[in-house]
Amino acid sequence: MKKYVIVGGVAGGMSAATRLRRLDNDAQIIVIEKSGFVSYANCGLPYYIGGVIQNERDLLLQTPESLNKRFNLDVRVNSEVIEILPTEKKVRVKSLSTNEILELEYDKLILSPGATPIVPSVEGISRAMTLRTVEDTKKIFNAVSEKPKSAVVIGGGFIGVEMAENLVHRGIKTALIEASDQVLAPLDPEMALLVANEISKNGVELHLGTSAVSVGSENVTLANGEVLPAELIILAIGVRPDTSLAKTAELTIGSRGGISVDENNLTSDKNIYALGDAVEKRDELDESATLVPLANIANRHGRVIADHINGRKTRNVNTIGTAIVKVFDLAVAVTGWNEKRLKAAGINHRAIHTHPGSHAGYYPGAETLALKLLINPENGEIYGAQGVGKDGIDKRIDVIATAIRGGISAPELADLELAYAPPFGSAKDPVNMLGYISENIVSGLTKTAQWHEIDRYRDSGYALLDVRTPGECSRGMIPGFINIPVDELRARHEEIGNKKVLVSCQVGQRAHTATMLLKGLGYEAVNLDGGYHLWSNSPAKLKIDAAKVEKEQVNV
Ligand SMILES: Cc1cc2nc3c(=O)[nH]c(=O)nc-3n(C[C@H](O)[C@H](O)[C@H](O)COP(=O)(O)OP(=O)(O)OC[C@H]3O[C@@H](n4cnc5c(N)ncnc54)[C@H](O)[C@@H]3O)c2cc1C
Repeated sequence: MKKYVIVGGVAGGMSAATRLRRLDNDAQIIVIEKSGFVSYANCGLPYYIGGVIQNERDLLLQTPESLNKRFNLDVRVNSEVIEILPTEKKVRVKSLSTNEILELEYDKLILSPGATPIVPSVEGISRAMTLRTVEDTKKIFNAVSEKPKSAVVIGGGFIGVEMAENLVHRGIKTALIEASDQVLAPLDPEMALLVANEISKNGVELHLGTSAVSVGSENVTLANGEVLPAELIILAIGVRPDTSLAKTAELTIGSRGGISVDENNLTSDKNIYALGDAVEKRDELDESATLVPLANIANRHGRVIADHINGRKTRNVNTIGTAIVKVFDLAVAVTGWNEKRLKAAGINHRAIHTHPGSHAGYYPGAETLALKLLINPENGEIYGAQGVGKDGIDKRIDVIATAIRGGISAPELADLELAYAPPFGSAKDPVNMLGYISENIVSGLTKTAQWHEIDRYRDSGYALLDVRTPGECSRGMIPGFINIPVDELRARHEEIGNKKVLVSCQVGQRAHTATMLLKGLGYEAVNLDGGYHLWSNSPAKLKIDAAKVEKEQVNV
């Protein structure tokens, strides 16, 4: 009879344990879990604090007893594996209720200890609470129940943003601090701005580009000198792989600080597997080591390990980092690489922004989506995508994630036959539209410019043309653009007075028609991707607004 010991009884560990049992009815499977709970829904914890999930039991998917009954697992909670003795193939386990220490033998050991929250060295930071386990949740829940008047969330990543929303649900005046100049690092800045607006709109006081430098008994002081009232403080600036146990067995730690594993999640010791937030994964695009602390890949790798142990054929599962988060009324999703990363890596790419309806405009309730696709302009390979919107974001990003996994190129997105009826989508789904635009770019039919490239076009002698209606233009225009509505362009194009022209409209669609018309008339026409809508929600517009305010202050 084989003996398997699994460290960590949540996403990765429990996925490995249950698959092992399904494949081998006789093996002895022992799961050691440090906290008092197993198989809990950590992704749901912020919503319990916010009162959206009201029953604590809903978060506890299984208990040691239910796991024993169904899967014959020997699950030991409040027990910590404190050391691995790899040559003896044993682990030392400490009971956290009795302090007793015992040794357990294994044939194969599986490590899924997760990650630990990063705690910066800031004066007074010990007052801040982190969220990782059910115990952490109860602590925060109790603090929230005392009805604090103010809360500060440090960190504008996924968990920080979720916590800010849930504290607002509980009626607490909340501030969110993020050291970088945008929330949600996986997004590019112009997409993150939409999220920042939603956060502010819902009453969260957002402080970007500054960090907490000290924590007092009732406040937090920021690097910019501001002092924020803070009866409650949540710290969510990220996590790092928990490699403490792996180090006791001298397992190889990779360049990103996670346990190094091969394509079957085998560590540098042939009897020890590791998975989940504690390990480094392989990036699907460039095969580099990466840290992706997400539940999907932890679950998937649990199955890979059980299959490998049982001699079954496994598939290499690299990551593309697909993720989604709810931010008040918005869904925000990403897959693959963002533009910041592509730029930093010096990879030639093109961005495409579209703002289609979530479903047919004539059917009630359609919402505008903001979608961004990143492609290789030479061969159409999809590098990544981002989506922000109220409805239908999950479906679009999931389709694109599937396309990346399946090696479907961006122009081929046009060929996907996606389910359509007016309440759900459009005959030309937003994903199809991204395919059409990609096809035009990759084939060289059209050229596009980005919101941050306008000055470069102007400086290299391009005329700037806005083809929206005068009514639309009266509500706002990009400085320097002249207006000739698309329907008058055939008759009035000579007013442009320049054969090179950058064309903008509201979202890029009418500008496409205009650029094609102008091309036919002998112009070199470039479409401003995403049009006025994208520019007016981008950091470029913010810069102009800030300069205006500064000028007004000087004039006063
Ligand atoms: C608040 C929150 C919200 C999240 N939301 C999402 C989401 O919406 N979508 C998403 O994809 N991901 C989300 N995640 C991330 C996701 O939960 C993790 O990626 C996933 O749980 C990782 O699985 P794991 O098995 O590696 O670690 P975990 O699930 O964290 O499990 C590790 C377990 O190991 C135990 N352990 C550690 N060391 C020892 C030891 N020495 N002995 C015994 N036990 C030990 C720990 O107590 C812990 O229970 C969220 C995480 C948190 C905390």
